[in-house]
Amino acid sequence: MSYEAVIGLEIHAQLLTNSKMFCGCSTKFGAEPNTQVCPVCLGMPGVLPVLNKKAVEFAIKMALATNCAINPKSIFARKNYFYPDLPKGYQISQYDEPLTKKGFIDVDVNDSKKRIGITRIHMEEDAGKLLHGETNEDINYSFVDLNRAAVPLIEIVSEPDMRTSDEAVEYLKALRDILVYLEICDGNMEEGSFRCDANVSVRKIGQKELGTKTELKNINSFRFIQKAIEYEIKRQIDVLEDNGKIIQETRLFDSDKGITISMRSKEEAHDYRYFPEPDLLPLEIDAKWIEEIKKNLPELPAAKRERFVKGYGIPQYDAGVLTSSKALANYYEKCVQAYRGQGVKGGYPSEGWVGGQEIPKVVSNWVMGELLRLLKEDGKDINQPSVFGLQPESFAKLLKMIDEGTISNKIAKDVFEEMFKTGKDPDAIVKEKGLVQISDESAIIKAIDDVLNANQQSAADYKAGKEKLFSFFVGQVMKATKGQANPALLNKLLKEKLSR
Ligand code: ADP
Ligand code: MG
Ligand code: ZN
Repeated sequence: MSYEAVIGLEIHAQLLTNSKMFCGCSTKFGAEPNTQVCPVCLGMPGVLPVLNKKAVEFAIKMALATNCAINPKSIFARKNYFYPDLPKGYQISQYDEPLTKKGFIDVDVNDSKKRIGITRIHMEEDAGKLLHGETNEDINYSFVDLNRAAVPLIEIVSEPDMRTSDEAVEYLKALRDILVYLEICDGNMEEGSFRCDANVSVRKIGQKELGTKTELKNINSFRFIQKAIEYEIKRQIDVLEDNGKIIQETRLFDSDKGITISMRSKEEAHDYRYFPEPDLLPLEIDAKWIEEIKKNLPELPAAKRERFVKGYGIPQYDAGVLTSSKALANYYEKCVQAYRGQGVKGGYPSEGWVGGQEIPKVVSNWVMGELLRLLKEDGKDINQPSVFGLQPESFAKLLKMIDEGTISNKIAKDVFEEMFKTGKDPDAIVKEKGLVQISDESAIIKAIDDVLNANQQSAADYKAGKEKLFSFFVGQVMKATKGQANPALLNKLLKEKLSR
C-alpha cells in the first residue's frame, strides 16, 4: 500500500470528415481494400498534400471543448519511419509547434471531481492497415489496405495526472463523450476510430520524481484498459518489491490471459527524425474563425449533466445515464415536455406527480429502466430513431394512464413493451387487451374474500401477529385479478378486511 500509480494517456481519435487529410479520397469505413486511395495518400513521388479545412475545424472544436488554447501558428512535421502500412515512409504529424497549448477537463470519479491536464492536441494522418493470415499450407502472409492511410486524426496527450485505473477510464470516457457530442469522431473503439495508449509508472508515496514508465499499446475497450493498467501497476510494484528495476518499454495487453507482455524496449524505440514538412505552409488560424467555431459549439456532456440535475431535480446518477448520448438526452427531454404538456387530472397537481415523485424523475425511471432494457434486449440503439416508433407523446400518454389509475404500474410495463415492439398507441393496446385497471371496489372485495377463504390458516396467523403475510395476500389478489387490481385500493381494502 506504500506505492502510488501515475498514469498518462495518449489518445488517437479519427475525425469524421468525408475526405482524407490531404486529398479528396473518401474516409468511409468498411469499403473494399485499396478502393479509397489516390497518388497523394499512396505517397507517390511528386504529389503535393492539400490540408483539409474541415479537419482543422474539428481539431479546433476539440481544443475549445477541452479548455486548450490554440496556437495562432502551428507547424506540420514529418515523422519518419518505415512500415509496410506507410507507403510514404513518413507520417505527417505535428511536433514542435502543435495546434494547441495546455488544457484540461474535469472528470467525475467516485463522486468527486478530478481535474486532468491535457498537454497538447495535435493533428496527424493515420496509417494504413495490415491484415495478417496463414494459408492452409501454413504459409504466413500479410495484406495491406491503404483505405485508412491519411485519414485525419487528432492525438490528445494527457499530463501524468491520473492515479488509478478508475481515473484513467473515467477520463477516457469523458473525452470520448465530448468527441461524440461534438460529432467529430464516432468514438468506435472496436473499429479503431478511438484508440488509447496508456503510460503507467509507480512510485513510493511521498516521492516527488516520477518512476520509469511503460507504455501499453492499442487496447480496444474500456474494460481491457482498466484491466491492463491494473495488471501493470501490480506487476511494477512486484518488480520493485523484488529489488528489480522497471525497464522503459512498450508492452502489449493479452486480453485472453489478462496480462501485459514486453513488445520492445527503449533501445529499440524509433528515432523519428522529425523535421518540418516542406510541402505544407505553417498553419495560421484566424482568431475570428476560432470565435465563430466557439459560438456554434453544442452543449457538452458535463454542462448537460449539470443542467439536468439542477433543472429537472434528478439525481446525478440519472443525469449521467441520460446524457450518455445526445440522442438519449434529447429523447428524455422530449418525453418530460410531452408529459408536462398533457396535464394531469383527478386530484393530482397539474405538474402531476406519481407516487410522490416528480415528472422528470418518473420519466427518468422509465427511460433508464424499461426503455434502455428493451433497447439492449433487441440490440437496438436510440441513435437510430428509425428502429422504433416510440414517440415521446405516446410515452407520455402511457405515464399519464398510470397517473389517472387507468392501468397499474406493472401492467404499464407490459403495455410499454408492446408499444416498443409495434409502435402502437398505449390507448389502443390497453383496449385491445382489456387491461384497464380494476378500480371497482366490489370486484376487488370479491377477490379479497376468495383469497382469504382459500387461506384461512394464513389469515388467522396474520391476525395473530404475522404481519409479513400481508404482501402474500396482496400477491394472491393480484394474481386472481391478472394484475389489474388498483394497488392503492387493494391495499386499503385488504387492510380493512384483515383488521376486522
Ligand atoms: P514519450 O516521449 O515516451 O512518448 P512523453 O513525455 O511524450 O513520453 O509522454 C507520453 C505520455 O506519457 C503522456 O501522456 C505523459 O503524461 C505520460 N507520462 C510521461 N511520463 C510518465 C511517467 N513517468 N509515468 C506515467 N506516465 C507518464
Ligand atoms: Mg509516446
Ligand atoms: Zn487519396
